[in-house]
Amino acid sequence: MPKLYIVPTPIGNLEDITLRAIRILKEVDIILAEDTRKTGILLKHLNISGKLQSHHQFNEHKTTERIISVISTGQSIALVSDAGTPAISDPGYLLIRECLKSGIKVECLPGATASVPALVNSGLPADRFIFEGFLPHKKGRKSKLEQLAEFPYTMIFYESPFRLLKSLEAFAEYFGEERKAAVARELSKIYEETIRGTLSELICHYKDKTIKGEIVIVVEGKKPEARSPKTGV
Ligand code: SAM
Repeated sequence: MPKLYIVPTPIGNLEDITLRAIRILKEVDIILAEDTRKTGILLKHLNISGKLQSHHQFNEHKTTERIISVISTGQSIALVSDAGTPAISDPGYLLIRECLKSGIKVECLPGATASVPALVNSGLPADRFIFEGFLPHKKGRKSKLEQLAEFPYTMIFYESPFRLLKSLEAFAEYFGEERKAAVARELSKIYEETIRGTLSELICHYKDKTIKGEIVIVVEGKKPEARSPKTGV
């Protein structure tokens, strides 16, 4: 049965790939990759060669139709991104949607993604949360922050090291300096660290530092207003 497999790949540590992911990458006819050079390094490590094709946000509108016709002829295809799970702040959504529209089965393997270990490491409630990906830099940023200020559950953001401080300052401005948060840096890599504290403590920690590496910010949701002990409202 022709199928599109969505295959998560490590976000740092090369050991973080499942046995099934390796088997699927070996079995499929074509591996679609965001950056064939980066994925090439992983495939070399897994002794897989000769089936990489490029599929990224700049060509996905053009290549989607061709990929669907290739799958329809009986070839099996795996989609990977540079790191983590495709379609999570990465290309993939468009191809998945069009495959499903054309009656092609899609199967996403469980696997690496940066948001889940960052959330769990943060020590903030992990029972209900929202994944926001990258905050808009300009258009829509203010209204997004105003809207999230009222959100009662834990929030997860992806951010570049160059914009970390700016985002922490924006969160402090809109959510209040005393909101708890955690910054997870370089998950699964040698210099992995999670710094936890209030937003003002985190701003103090990162101010005047050169920040490097990949980053996830996790922020506590708005606490319910304290009820009056007398009236209960
Ligand atoms: N598809 C990926 C996933 O499933 O998490 C996300 C890809 S997105 C283009 C890249 C962002 O993910 C980085 O800017 C960073 O915010 C986060 N990220 C990826 N790897 C990470 C790591 N090892 N440590 C911390 N954050 C990471």
